[in-house]
Amino acid sequence: MKNITVIGSGTMGNGIAHVFAQYDYQVNLIDVNETQLKKAIETIGKNLDRQVSKGSLTEADKTRTLGNIKTFTSLKEACASADLVVEAASENINIKLDIFRQIDEYTPASCILASNTSSISITKIASVTKRPEQVIGMHFMNPVPVMKLVEVINGYKTSKSVTEAIVTLSKAIGKVPAEANDYAGFIANRILMPMINEAIICLQSGVGTVESIDTVMKLGMAHPMGPLQLADFIGLDVCLAIMNVLYDGLGQDKYAPSPLLVNMVTAGNLGVKSGEGFYKYTPGSKELVVSDRFN
Ligand code: NAD
Repeated sequence: MKNITVIGSGTMGNGIAHVFAQYDYQVNLIDVNETQLKKAIETIGKNLDRQVSKGSLTEADKTRTLGNIKTFTSLKEACASADLVVEAASENINIKLDIFRQIDEYTPASCILASNTSSISITKIASVTKRPEQVIGMHFMNPVPVMKLVEVINGYKTSKSVTEAIVTLSKAIGKVPAEANDYAGFIANRILMPMINEAIICLQSGVGTVESIDTVMKLGMAHPMGPLQLADFIGLDVCLAIMNVLYDGLGQDKYAPSPLLVNMVTAGNLGVKSGEGFYKYTPGSKELVVSDRFN
């Protein structure tokens, strides 16, 4: 594999493009939003600067990495010579199905089609293509240049050779692949989200305060971040959407989203991105201040 097309240049797409380009793959980065594409290249530049200042890359590596990325707004052009497409567009099933229908037409027959989805069924995505055995999940973690894991998700019809190709490729870009089968939430979110949801239920029912819940999990379980702070970082809307996927897909009450989580999302308190969730966020400040709502 040499030519990689990355669809979507948001939080995940720019990180995925960065990592492939750093390892000398030719990357076509495509987004429907031209402003977002420009921002993505700026973000990649800043993140490369950080690697240079830490001594893990040289200025020449930075220049070479940026030179390996081309930007596009036409999906057809961006996909024409792809060996692999990694889709990292917005987490919306209709957007993803539409993209996969198109890339099935626009890419060479041998091209592998991967999705970075956090929760949408790979089997469902594969079902709208004529090559379901070549469709797979390649679930990177945020921030992509830093996090080692790639969860490799086998759809119902994904072929063994395609899985092997993606496992090999993940290792070639310095990542550690872990395979999962295609059930709601895969491995990462099947375990992480119920833990976050339970932390919110503990808060809601007065078992602990925001600070005590996060402190117990940080110091007691050696988690780098407490579950409530992590929920704010991920986005409470994203957490709710994934809990709903688990609840719908697995059909058990234990996956029902906490009513407090539902209320916070309805009220627009989505965490870091909206300025307030379990904590309050002031631009430029790293201090962790509990939201007045929970004081
Ligand atoms: P984001 O909102 O930051 O970026 C999505 C980008 O997709 C936007 O720039 C948008 O303009 C673009 N887009 C939308 N429709 C498009 C289309 N038809 N063609 C091309 N581009 C299109 O989202 P994100 O956080 O980067 O998430 C992207 C994917 O990665 C989602 O499937 C998400 O579930 C998954 N994911 C996110 C995280 C995370 O922590 N943010 C972690 C793992 C996986």
